[in-house]
Amino acid sequence: MTVNYEARRLSITLFSPQAEVRRLRLTLKILLTILILLLLNELIFTGLSMLALAMFSSISLLVVFYFWASPDTCSVIAGMVLWSIAVFITYACWLGNGIFDTIVFGFPCLLMLAIVLSGKLIFISLFVYLVSALCFLAFAHSQGFLAGAELFATLPMWGRVFSYIVLLTCFSVGVFFIFADIRKRFKYILQKNAALEAAIGQLRRSSRFDQLTQLPNENACNIDLVEQLKQQKASGHILAFITLNLGNLHSIRMNYSHSICDEALKLLAKNLLSFTNDKTVVYRFQQNEFVILIHSIDYRGIRTFADKMRHVCSQTYHVTDFDVALQPSIGIALAPFDGSTMAELRHNSHLAMHAKGEAGKADFSFFDQAMAEQEQQRLQLTKALKNAISNNELILHFQPKIDLTTEQITGAEALVRWISPEHGFVPPTVFIPLAEQAGVITDITHWVIEQSVIACKQWHELGFNKLCIAVNLSAEDFKRGNLATHTLSTLTKASLPAHFLELELTESMLMDDINYIQKQINELRSFGISFAIDDFGTGYSNLGYLTKFNVCTLKLDRSFVKNICHSSNELQIVKAIIGMSKSLSITNVAEGIEDKATADMLADLGCDMGQGYYWSKPVAQEDFIALLKEKGQ
Ligand code: C2E
Ligand code: CA
Ligand code: CA
Repeated sequence: MTVNYEARRLSITLFSPQAEVRRLRLTLKILLTILILLLLNELIFTGLSMLALAMFSSISLLVVFYFWASPDTCSVIAGMVLWSIAVFITYACWLGNGIFDTIVFGFPCLLMLAIVLSGKLIFISLFVYLVSALCFLAFAHSQGFLAGAELFATLPMWGRVFSYIVLLTCFSVGVFFIFADIRKRFKYILQKNAALEAAIGQLRRSSRFDQLTQLPNENACNIDLVEQLKQQKASGHILAFITLNLGNLHSIRMNYSHSICDEALKLLAKNLLSFTNDKTVVYRFQQNEFVILIHSIDYRGIRTFADKMRHVCSQTYHVTDFDVALQPSIGIALAPFDGSTMAELRHNSHLAMHAKGEAGKADFSFFDQAMAEQEQQRLQLTKALKNAISNNELILHFQPKIDLTTEQITGAEALVRWISPEHGFVPPTVFIPLAEQAGVITDITHWVIEQSVIACKQWHELGFNKLCIAVNLSAEDFKRGNLATHTLSTLTKASLPAHFLELELTESMLMDDINYIQKQINELRSFGISFAIDDFGTGYSNLGYLTKFNVCTLKLDRSFVKNICHSSNELQIVKAIIGMSKSLSITNVAEGIEDKATADMLADLGCDMGQGYYWSKPVAQEDFIALLKEKGQ
């Protein structure tokens, strides 16, 4: 930026009309100084002479030119100055020693000035004039018309004229080309500078706008917010920082295509743009995040606006024969109450967004202090969780899986528990997501696999040697890439055959980076480890995954199972899932069975296995063994 600014400043300094006037005036000052000194010299040593009068006239003329010079008259005056000096020098030679006079050295200086001050035309005409003047003076000399003629009578005059002309020509051509080159270089630099300036302008514009939606982006918001906060202070109004997050963009991309997702985003941006006015600006931050800054007199104004926004966002967008439904979440932070910087307002609007009710339901919520306290608590929990394994704070519980026809225990699901000395019992639904965010989930999973395999081996040693163990995985577990090696070495160490271990995945995990995860799943499958899809029915219920990942078990989510005796809708869903899994020869397990009626109905529907409080809650290893012994399997 500085280089650019400097270059522009340089071009203004060198080529603007004002610069031309300044340069002419400076030249005039120098000429006037020389002439005044010469005049004084003449008056002191010779007295009042014709030459002194000529000098005086020239000085007067140059003074007039000095004050007359302006951007409009500059080029004319420059020509007049040059011609006046040319005439003056010729006249001085005429009065003095002709071509032998020292003032002849003024000729090349004059030509140099002509290049600096004027154009080609004046320069060439002056050159012709000066050559002619030299010839004329020489001729006048030879005819004895000049004052100093007798003094230099014996000197080789025409040879000297010739040398003068050769010198003048060489000097003129040299100086002319040097200046032409300098001008050319300047022109080139200026052209480059203009191109650079245009590119910087373009870059600056694009760095402030989102390419896809053409909305201003995070950079622009950062800059605008400073101004908006000043306005808010001056007006006393409320400035709302509204974050709009689209939760299902990833699945839209996977289920439809990137271009359909982009088109839906553009349509949403167009709708949001209709809100833009002098009080409201819409920005697009990252992939799935939009931000709206809005001024309002009161809280009610913001609420009305958020309501309108919710309505716009929950529309279904029709893109090339598909109806795309976005899942917006809206969080609102208000300045000055909830923050006075971009970082604070954004953070708090995010907290508000995550605190909003049901996932996927277009709703909005305002930030309040309780959210910040919850966040603080989450941070403390995360900190404590990092040491949970090394401090032996984790324990494993086992929930039996029951064969619905024989009522026999076929295995168990391992469910981790955290009893923190500081925070007490923390449910896995709370700490597992924290562990995923904090990057400690893989250590927890490794620990769970180790303990589960040891526990299963113990059941086998006690005679319950057909039981399997199921372990829950997180998407993060595949990221390190050592899941397969760790699992295999754990099984080998415990001498448990791999087919007794089942790993539970959720559909959302398979959405992420399918190739990367599939490679690891295939490797684990090749050892004999089986896979189950957990919570089936709550996600995308994509049948493609079941065959693609060679899944052995499908676990029906508790949310359908619990109502099958009362809701025909849920009954139909469960029936359909069981039918489908049977046709694909996949074992199905119903989760969350809490009563006999549900267990019986599922058995009648052909469900293979069940899991739930009806038989047992998840229990510690010794209680699970007691249960096995009680059942007498
Ligand atoms: P999940 O894998 O779906 O586990 C089943 C959850 O349902 C367990 O909750 C279990 O206690 C509960 N449950 C089982 N039967 C019934 C029933 O009849 N009624 C009701 N109301 N609930 C029942 P839990 O142990 O709180 O675990 C919750 C979730 O935490 C699990 O859901 C799983 O997603 C996650 N989780 C638990 N342990 C682990 C683990 O070791 N690793 C990973 N990655 N996730 C785990
Ligand atoms: Ca599970
Ligand atoms: Ca489940």
